[in-house]
Amino acid sequence: DINPSAKPVSFKLVLLGESAVGKSSLVLRFVRGQFFEYQESTIGAAFLTQTVPLGDAVIKFEIWDTAGQERYKSLAPMYYRGAAAAIVVYDITNYDSFLRAKQWVKELQRQGNTNIVIALAGNKSDLSDKRKVDFSEASAYAEDNGILFLETSAKTAQNVNEIFVAIARKLPKDR
Ligand code: GDP
Repeated sequence: DINPSAKPVSFKLVLLGESAVGKSSLVLRFVRGQFFEYQESTIGAAFLTQTVPLGDAVIKFEIWDTAGQERYKSLAPMYYRGAAAAIVVYDITNYDSFLRAKQWVKELQRQGNTNIVIALAGNKSDLSDKRKVDFSEASAYAEDNGILFLETSAKTAQNVNEIFVAIARKLPKDR
């Protein structure tokens, strides 16, 4: 399946979303297979890379974590400039974080790269007993707006690889 001689094709991917929804945790789970219960926001991995084999191709994600930039809204355009893909994260136990995520999606669709691949991640799916955002509401929103959607858990790893692979599948391979 995997073609070892394939040259990786690099894509910039950014994570956006309210503070503490689990952006850094998703990146650390995907890249290093780690999770920390008391992840400090500021420790956030600022820049990490990870490759995903995909048929004959190898996709290399250059992942930019926000490292707290959500507090400085005016810096956001600089941060997502040139991004081929974005994961917009909310916390399923925090309805406000879902509203904020929808604002990010709108901003990316208006001002992000043309054809940017956007995935919405309803994170902390392991905390479903404290759920405030219905799966069906988020799923319908994503479908209406033509974006990918998965509920994820950086803690249990549920759908973490899957969301990156789903994005990789939608990226243009012919550059
Ligand atoms: P960020 O500010 O969006 O980067 O969020 P962090 O990655 O710093 O995570 C904030 C807090 O949520 C930390 O205490 C994490 O351990 C916790 N967290 C992140 N993802 C999950 C998850 O999927 N499940 C649970 N239960 N906690 C999570």
